[in-house]
Amino acid sequence: MSDSNKTFTVAVASGKGGTGKTLVAANLAVALARGGRDVVLVDCDVEAPNDHLFFQVEAQPRAVMVPLAQVDEDECTACGACRDACAYGAIRILGGNTLVFPELCHGCGACTLACPISAMGETMRRVGEVSSGRVVGVADLGELTLVSGSLDVGDVKAPDVIRAARSAAGTHEIAVLDAPPGVSCAAVASVNAADLLLLVTEPTPFGLHDLELAVRLGQELGVPSAVILNRAGSGTVDIEAWCAGEGVPVLARIPFMREIAECYADARLVADEVAECAQAIEAVADFVTRGGAVA
Ligand code: SF4
Ligand code: SF4
Repeated sequence: MSDSNKTFTVAVASGKGGTGKTLVAANLAVALARGGRDVVLVDCDVEAPNDHLFFQVEAQPRAVMVPLAQVDEDECTACGACRDACAYGAIRILGGNTLVFPELCHGCGACTLACPISAMGETMRRVGEVSSGRVVGVADLGELTLVSGSLDVGDVKAPDVIRAARSAAGTHEIAVLDAPPGVSCAAVASVNAADLLLLVTEPTPFGLHDLELAVRLGQELGVPSAVILNRAGSGTVDIEAWCAGEGVPVLARIPFMREIAECYADARLVADEVAECAQAIEAVADFVTRGGAVA
């Protein structure tokens, strides 16, 4: 966090869903804002955004549009040159008709250039929306902005909505990105170019398996990882031994407590109500404000 003009970006992720990633992201953003930092929380889990449930925000949604190849059917001779130029297999010639498959089209424009008679053009189509606004109604908060990305139902362009949400976040002291679970294209779009990857996991065989994939993703992207162990004390797997072997620090342990689950299910800030959770989040916030340096 030495460059004061650059946002320090922390991606909170997990190898699988349901590990407590959003719990950590929302409570961490609040802890950092209460510590006097200018913070933006970006919900990149665009297929199931949940961070807005924890906050009051006055925000106007803005559509996310992406380019899509469009055929002029009156001019097209079905010669196939555009199909041959498309590296994504998004164009088919069927029964003398040229068809573009929107879910495969990357809007690269190669087909437009390839068409000898200018019968292939481009239109824009909506894939989701992004909303942004300042959080109000949380005690002692300071500056916290929430940006939420939401993918339209049935669409597959999650990475485009994530990139739009990250772009809409603008410049702040710290950005906390609530990344989608897994190691898909959407997870890559969220973690890519972050300064720090916080991985939330649980002490189960699935938790360890998916944690390993997520750590490898961070290594591939050149983003240093640290782990937060959720539901500590509940499982059968020694996550901490694995992390020690990999040289990945374990920053905090959130205990397995019914009170935490109930609080989270009611969309309340758990760190405000459960001391064990508050301690864990403070430890993570300290790590982030040190720029990811182990004390
Ligand atoms: S814009 Fe690119 S991806 Fe889309 S159909 Fe044309 S060549 Fe294929
Ligand atoms: S290259 Fe042009 S004319 Fe040929 S099939 Fe494609 S859109 Fe039609």
